Amino acid sequence: MTMPDAAPVPSTSGDAGSTGNTGGWQTIGHSAARLYLQRSHEAGRVAHAYLITGPDQVGKRTLALDLARLVNCTPTPDMFGDDAPPPCGKCVPCDRIARDVHADVKTIDPHTPLLGVSSGTRESTPDQDAARTLISIGHVREMQHDVSLNPFEGGKRVVIFDGAHRMAPDGSGWNALLKTLEEPPENVVIVLLAPTVGSLPQTVISRCQPIELHAVPTGEIEQGLIERGGADPEVAAQLARLAAGRPGRAFAALNDETTLDRYRQAVLRVLTASAGDIEERFRYANEMAREFSRNREMVERELELWTSIWRDIMLLKHELTNSVANVEWTGQLSVVASASAPDDARLAIEAISRAADGLRRNGMPRVVLEVMLLEIPAIPPEIVENMNSADEDEALGGGWDETPS
Ligand SMILES: [Zn+2]
Repeated sequence: MTMPDAAPVPSTSGDAGSTGNTGGWQTIGHSAARLYLQRSHEAGRVAHAYLITGPDQVGKRTLALDLARLVNCTPTPDMFGDDAPPPCGKCVPCDRIARDVHADVKTIDPHTPLLGVSSGTRESTPDQDAARTLISIGHVREMQHDVSLNPFEGGKRVVIFDGAHRMAPDGSGWNALLKTLEEPPENVVIVLLAPTVGSLPQTVISRCQPIELHAVPTGEIEQGLIERGGADPEVAAQLARLAAGRPGRAFAALNDETTLDRYRQAVLRVLTASAGDIEERFRYANEMAREFSRNREMVERELELWTSIWRDIMLLKHELTNSVANVEWTGQLSVVASASAPDDARLAIEAISRAADGLRRNGMPRVVLEVMLLEIPAIPPEIVENMNSADEDEALGGGWDETPS
């Protein structure tokens, strides 16, 4: 395994040691799942249906497309007469799948345009597609029609349902899908993607081969950002840590130059609130509560940031400097750590997790967040005063609504 020359990065889960060359696979991490699919393919035992579960942006769709490449790849020998193992990433089918123009590989999500079942002409407007939140029976019928035909390009037909849990609730879509799963046509692979197994009917789950994806170790995301994304090692190290195990998040951030800036502003907000008096803390809680009604995900991410900052403080209290996630802030967080009481970080993390839970259970955002801010231990105000004087304008901008509270 080769690691980049950047500072060594700790792994946070047990999948280390498997980064290596991944050939034509686009999936970052998930070596066990890749190996499993590769072996099934070599043994001629690719299943008719898979259910890939895991958190948002962890790599479910990429793995499903890798599976489509794996079963459709036609590797051509290189100048030494050696075949690259499938998916080679270079042959015509691999390339066509990567460019999303392969006739036999289709991804369906709630926003996929509806086509007439046998005519193939578009029957929905772009506005209707954008507004649709569920996979409709029309999508499933179209899939049924498609899989009844032989693959056009001679390999296997692969249909991926991205967000399979968003099936129309009247059961018609599930029933139609079940029919296909019960009598799978030859040369067809159906892949369902969902956050958890619990979000699908048992009858469907039992007909699919399950593949469960978990957070990807930071080191593997970092390497992926450098090798696949062409990222600068320093940027890769930073984004990989911020991605919290989700390669998709890291790659999205790589393509958005404002990500690191917004991250720094968010860290400043969190530290300012932690160092502030009761008024400052309530002001922050109210701003967050307002933001929650507009952009729930942003607040959820901010709470993840709160957790990662207090986790770093806990690590630094125990001098575990190598595992810190917010590397850029190690200096300031070390000062907080040495000024904090032994139990502070644990109390803070518990308070944040109660707040996250309260928001998930539809507690009143303002009350939930005020309670959290009341429970967060104080940090020395000097830390923030020094930073604020250096970067006052940014700290005020912060991505919040500009209207004063
Ligand atoms: Zn190939």
